[in-house]
Amino acid sequence: MLTNKEEKARYIKVNGKDTVAIIVNEGGLAAGTKFSDGLELKEAIPQGHKVALKDIEPGEPIIRYGMVIGYAMRSLPKGSWVDETALELPAPPDLDALLAQLSHQEGSLHSRTKKKQTQKTPLSMPNTTSSAQSFVAPSFQSEPPTFEGYRNADGTVACKNLLGLVPSVQCMAGVLKVAAARIEKELLPRYPHVDGVVALNHSYGCGVAISAAESEIPIRTIQNLASHPHFGGLALIVGLGCEKLQPERIATAPQHQIIRLQDQAGFSAMVAELMRVAEARLAILDQRRREPCPLSDLVVGVQCGGSDAFSGVTANPAIGYASDLLVRAGATVMFSEVTEVRDAVHLLVPRAVSNDVAQTLIREMKWYDEYLARSNVDRSANPAPGNKKGGLSNIVEKALGSAAKSGISPIVGVLAPGERVPREQSSQRATHGLYFAATPASDFICGTLQLASGIHVQVFSTGRGTPYGLAMAPVIKVSSNSRLAHQWPDLIDIDAGEIANGTAIIEEVGQQIFNYIIDVASGRKKTWADVHGLYNDLVIFNPGPVT
Ligand code: CA
Repeated sequence: MLTNKEEKARYIKVNGKDTVAIIVNEGGLAAGTKFSDGLELKEAIPQGHKVALKDIEPGEPIIRYGMVIGYAMRSLPKGSWVDETALELPAPPDLDALLAQLSHQEGSLHSRTKKKQTQKTPLSMPNTTSSAQSFVAPSFQSEPPTFEGYRNADGTVACKNLLGLVPSVQCMAGVLKVAAARIEKELLPRYPHVDGVVALNHSYGCGVAISAAESEIPIRTIQNLASHPHFGGLALIVGLGCEKLQPERIATAPQHQIIRLQDQAGFSAMVAELMRVAEARLAILDQRRREPCPLSDLVVGVQCGGSDAFSGVTANPAIGYASDLLVRAGATVMFSEVTEVRDAVHLLVPRAVSNDVAQTLIREMKWYDEYLARSNVDRSANPAPGNKKGGLSNIVEKALGSAAKSGISPIVGVLAPGERVPREQSSQRATHGLYFAATPASDFICGTLQLASGIHVQVFSTGRGTPYGLAMAPVIKVSSNSRLAHQWPDLIDIDAGEIANGTAIIEEVGQQIFNYIIDVASGRKKTWADVHGLYNDLVIFNPGPVT
């Protein structure tokens, strides 16, 4: 089926039970193409799209990753193209039934000692006929590695040394942009150990129902962004004066300083005051130097965007492998994107370390179901047209591939949107392990929320391609196919498409991603996004009403 010769027709079947496989060859394959196992294409099929491996009758389940991704809407003869119009979306896992099952387990465990959790196999274990078969749990032969970070006064560690300008409200965005540009041009060259100035312009702060129950999410997000370790506790909090979200609520660290623009004598005075205080802070930040830190000080986020059918068999399992390596070395990893794991939740629940964690995971999914239902939409609002063009027919297929980013480690905790990873009282280190941080799948909102949750570095998989980046933390982009890596050599940091090509195995690319994370966190390597300064705007998740 799968050979290493480029000219041969190739497909990837993930699981022995699968009734569909995806076409590997760049540019797709023509009608009449024959595979080495005798399968013949009834029609032309684009790269990454699915071929029926057997005759599938209407109503019959269509299986990929060993799971039902849909039901046939029409007769699909062996060798035909199974596109998104051929599949009926199955019902999502029943959250109430999962919760009932958990409370039953809790009841039956009442008199016993704490249940020992067993580690499950990964959701998508690429079982192609290539060398990708040999997926094994990662382990360290030698001493766990360290990274070079800046130790903050509160015990946290930074991977970037940034001056943060944090507004309490959108009103000052224009002033902060001017001030940040002048600080960068006129002051920063004198402070070579500072990596940059970031104005956290956002859309929240006024014109909102500040006391609505949902406003805890945007407020917590802005508070946690202001105290992000990369600002070294020295962010400048900028208020207007009359806004609903008063700057005192954001200035939570002892060194945070507040400037109110309505107290200043006009525009020039505002910029002069911001530059005066900024310079004093730059002088302190410039004294900071990197030192070796254990990986227990490192927090890494993973997400995907512009996924295709290869994402779940190349980039995401490789990121999952890197994630397992990080967890084993004592680091903290978070995966997110509720709508993209919603359909895989029944596979994640058994990986929770406790009944409490499992229940919190399901409650976050339930909250999101209800949030979507308010606008009469559901999870089928995801995927995007580009995902479909890349061969992903529906959200079930996308979720099974997306969840592979979480590797096989146990899930030690669940974070509500924008919530910070809990810290150990004594060391101030993140309580390490794998977390699920509940966020929308939207790239920039997930990025903003993961920053608020405390990530130092984000690993981002893409199949269709996006120039996405974050000013506050490096983003390492991993392509799921080599076509994209070749098309965008100055945007893609790592090519996981080699796994589909049969020129690399998951462990190799996973190890490469792990090493890259350590190098980027230590300031030894720059991501393409950082080289070019490609930074998306932060987008605050505000599920509450606007007034
Ligand atoms: Ca995303």
